[in-house]
Amino acid sequence: MKKHSYLFRLTVFTFVASILIFAAKVSALPISEDSPAVDAGMAGADYFVETEDQLVNESLSQAGVFFSRPRLVKLLSNSKKVVLTFDDGPHPKTTPKVLEILRKRNIKAIFFVLGLQAEKYPELLKQIHAEGHEIGNHSYNHKNLAQLSEEQLKLQIEKTNSIIEKITGQKPEFLRPPYGAMNKQVIRAAMNEKMNILLWTIDPKDWQSKNEASIMRNLDKQLGLNGNLRGGAVLLHDIYPATVRALDPFLDKLATNDYQIASIHSLDSNSMNYWASTSPELLKNSFFRRHFDPEISGHSLLVNLIGVPHKQEVSSMALLRASKSGDLLIYLAKNSR
Ligand code: ZN
Repeated sequence: MKKHSYLFRLTVFTFVASILIFAAKVSALPISEDSPAVDAGMAGADYFVETEDQLVNESLSQAGVFFSRPRLVKLLSNSKKVVLTFDDGPHPKTTPKVLEILRKRNIKAIFFVLGLQAEKYPELLKQIHAEGHEIGNHSYNHKNLAQLSEEQLKLQIEKTNSIIEKITGQKPEFLRPPYGAMNKQVIRAAMNEKMNILLWTIDPKDWQSKNEASIMRNLDKQLGLNGNLRGGAVLLHDIYPATVRALDPFLDKLATNDYQIASIHSLDSNSMNYWASTSPELLKNSFFRRHFDPEISGHSLLVNLIGVPHKQEVSSMALLRASKSGDLLIYLAKNSR
C-alpha cells in the first residue's frame, strides 16, 4: 500500500491536534469558576447562558440590582478602574497579609466571605470590617446555590448574613453566589434579603494555578496591562499564599499604569434603576453584545485557526450559545471574513 506523503500526514496530524486543542479550549470557556471544589467548564457556561437571559426578564420586572458580567464590562472595561474582590475567606494565615498590603496602600476591597469561615474567625472578620472594607456574602459553605432547595438556599444566604451581622453589626449588601451559579430562585432569595448580586469580569485563576507568575500573566492579559488597558472587577481569593505574593506586584503595576481602585458604589450613580431604565430591546441587542476579545474569551487559538477578526462584533454570548448547541464551528465560519 502506498504510503501517504509526509505533507499529507503532517496536515492530518495538525488538523487532529487542532481539533483536540480546540475541544479543550471550548471546555474551558471564559466563564470563570471561582473555586476549585466543583467541576468547572461547561457547567459554568450553562449557568451563565441560561441565567443571564432569565435574569434580564426577572430583574426587569422587579428592578433589582445585579452586577452581572456584561454590566460590569460596560461599567469598567473602558476605564482604568479596578474593583478588587477577595473570596472564600477569611483565612487566619493569608487574610491578615492581604489586609496589611491593602492597609499600606490605603486601598479598599470587597471580601466575599463564607459564613463557615466567618464563624470560625470572627476576629478576622471584625478586622476586615474595621479597616473599612466591604464584606459580602459568599454563602455558608460554598455550595452551588442553583442546585439547592428553596429552604437550603435560604439557609445559605440568611444564616451567613446573620453571622456577618452579629460580628460586624452590619448586614452585607452584596451576594456573590459560588461559581457565579444562579437561577431565578437565587435572584429572588437575594432580592428578599435586599441584596445586590455582584459577579466579576477578571479571573486570574489563582484558585487553579496557586502560582503567582501565572496569576500575574493572567492579570496582564485580561487587563491588557501591556497594551490596551481596560478596567474590571477582579476575582481573587485571600486564602492562597500565591495570591498574597502576587498582590503587591499586581498593585504596583496598576499604580504604574495610573489605575484607580474603585468602590463598587462609585461606579454608576444610576445603578439602582439600571434594569428598570433599560429597555429589553437594548439589553438584548447591545448590552450583551461586546467585542469579541480572543484573549478574554479564551478562544485565542480558535481565532488563529479560523481567523475571526479581532474587532468584528461577535458576541461572547453568541459564542457560548453556539458552542452549547454544538454549532460553534459553523458559527465561526459564518462570522469570519
Ligand atoms: Zn468562592
